Amino acid sequence: MAKFTHRVYNFNAGPAMLPDPVMEEAQRDFLNYRSTGMSVLEISHRSSEFQALLDQSTEDLRELLQIPSKFGIVFFPGGATLQFSAVPLNYLENEDSADFSLTGLWANKAYQEAQKFSPNVKSIFDGKVGSYTEIPSLDSKSLNPGAKYLHITSNNTIYGTRYTKFPELGSVPIVADMTSDILSRPIPWNLFSVVFAGAQKNIGPSGLTLVIFDKERLPKTKNKIPNLLDYALMEKNGSLYNTPPTFSIYIAGLVFRWLKNKGGLSVMEKENEEKAKHLYDFLDQSSLFFANVPKPHRSIMNVVFKIKDSNLEKPLLESLEEQGFCGLKGYRDVGGFRASIYNAMPKAGVEALVSFLRHFESKI
Ligand SMILES: *Cc1c(COP(=O)(O)O)cnc(C)c1O
Repeated sequence: MAKFTHRVYNFNAGPAMLPDPVMEEAQRDFLNYRSTGMSVLEISHRSSEFQALLDQSTEDLRELLQIPSKFGIVFFPGGATLQFSAVPLNYLENEDSADFSLTGLWANKAYQEAQKFSPNVKSIFDGKVGSYTEIPSLDSKSLNPGAKYLHITSNNTIYGTRYTKFPELGSVPIVADMTSDILSRPIPWNLFSVVFAGAQKNIGPSGLTLVIFDKERLPKTKNKIPNLLDYALMEKNGSLYNTPPTFSIYIAGLVFRWLKNKGGLSVMEKENEEKAKHLYDFLDQSSLFFANVPKPHRSIMNVVFKIKDSNLEKPLLESLEEQGFCGLKGYRDVGGFRASIYNAMPKAGVEALVSFLRHFESKI
């Protein structure tokens, strides 16, 4: 790996880059948080300082995402993967069924996990035949009778696809793994019962997961659920049933405030669309590079692309890295390149990348 004395353009898929102002503020709070004489890492999770921080973060998030009051917000320990078990445990009673749209690796993992908890979990779309470049268009007729929810991955981090429009399923709600695109656009809450997101892509540090869930849709009779996966219990305890990942929540709170200061999610969505368009427009006119996801399904967070002459892949990755464009290697099963351009990636980073690729192409 090249060594740098300055910060680079970090295109990693996750853990991913965080906004500079957030890191600078965290640095200031690192030794002495709000005149407590203690680091933000050292304050008690039962202290009034931490409670204030947690309350403010929750309130800012509710405002940013316009989350209705019937939805609870919980900061969970553990990755998004833990929610693959938590959702069926909380929302499916013994033999209840749920449908899954398998648009990539993460949906498949969630599907396999849910099958452990109910024999009636079914797949209604399998993107494997199309190498996961397609997103189905689903409606209530696509569902199996009795399905309690439809599980989707809103943005497929690995394959660079997304639901540009969310399915409208009548009375059946969507459970969405939004790990790689939460906070990149507003959410139409009327369509959802659960939205969860591992923090390390678009929120903050790894090991924290945000769960936003419809309290009214929780089944009346309750499964035996491990306490730390029990949505109602965790919410009742205000994310403080046990010691939560305090530092990660603190960073997430700074990110929420940074987003508010930038003007909120409509502003963010516009900026994200512009960034992605700049890169896709370049790829679409290039005679060397191409994006293989059909236009309507293209992710605006993870731009997956390839090079026509595959012999050039390795040398290009090396010179990108040397020039401070890091984390662009595609996922191992997909190959090629992937530029993860989450909220924190400035437009200048995408412009610099496009200039570099254009220059590389002109020399061939
Ligand atoms: C990264 C990712 C995950 C896995 O997250 P962990 O926090 O590692 O469990 C799950 N779903 C999606 C969509 C992801 O991008």
